[in-house]
Amino acid sequence: LIFTGFLYGFIFGLIISIISYRVKFLSLSGSIAAVILATIIFGSGQWQYTVPILTFFLLSSLLSKTRKTIRNEIEESFEKSSTRDFWQVFANGLIPSLIAFINLVFPFQYAYLFYLVSIAVATADTWGTEIGTFKKTRTYNIRNFNEVEQGISGGVSLLGFVGSVLGALTIGLSSLYWIEDQKLYFIAICVSLGVLGSLYDSILGSTIQAQYICVVCKKVTERQNHCKINTHKFKGISWINNDIINIVSISMSILTLFILLSLI
Ligand SMILES: [Zn+2]
Repeated sequence: LIFTGFLYGFIFGLIISIISYRVKFLSLSGSIAAVILATIIFGSGQWQYTVPILTFFLLSSLLSKTRKTIRNEIEESFEKSSTRDFWQVFANGLIPSLIAFINLVFPFQYAYLFYLVSIAVATADTWGTEIGTFKKTRTYNIRNFNEVEQGISGGVSLLGFVGSVLGALTIGLSSLYWIEDQKLYFIAICVSLGVLGSLYDSILGSTIQAQYICVVCKKVTERQNHCKINTHKFKGISWINNDIINIVSISMSILTLFILLSLI
């Protein structure tokens, strides 16, 4: 019975969300988003679809907390804190849950690959940011390769790139149990499109995402408020924040995979 799957998803999502709220992986609104997404994803694809996104969520949350413990000051440039809110959870989970649900209603070829790639992009992006800001390292603007401060949208570094590859690879590996053949092919696509997606994210982040400058400390930030005073927008489009960029870069990667698969 399909309904039972959704009910189990709801209960499972509720348990994970309560724990995540207690350990501050999620805010209250983030927990609500997680319950909704868990219900849809578990209900649509059971463990096969739940394990990869749970891997993304738990390991990314642990990474964020570790990075925050080691280098809290970098958090100053991020729009949001390491406790994820409704829109952060929604931005990373929207496309995966849509793919899982559409495949339940109208099963389609390569659904699982599309699903994994959407999570690989979210993971590559998150791990690129977290691992890339673990320690002081030279960071460059992806568009002109001028050196920039760490933690700025569109900044890339070698360490961040390694983080992206590791993140996408982890998602590929988390799905191995359910892939019967062509395991290597699945993992290669996860890694390459996951990393490509994080590059889309950086390019969009350095062009259309709104960036602000603090009038007190002169820091470039995603925040509209810094040093307890409103910041000034100096580039990008005001309504385009990190969450919108995540949804767009995941969609662009899905489209890239679609084009690649139709060429083969
Ligand atoms: Zn400031």
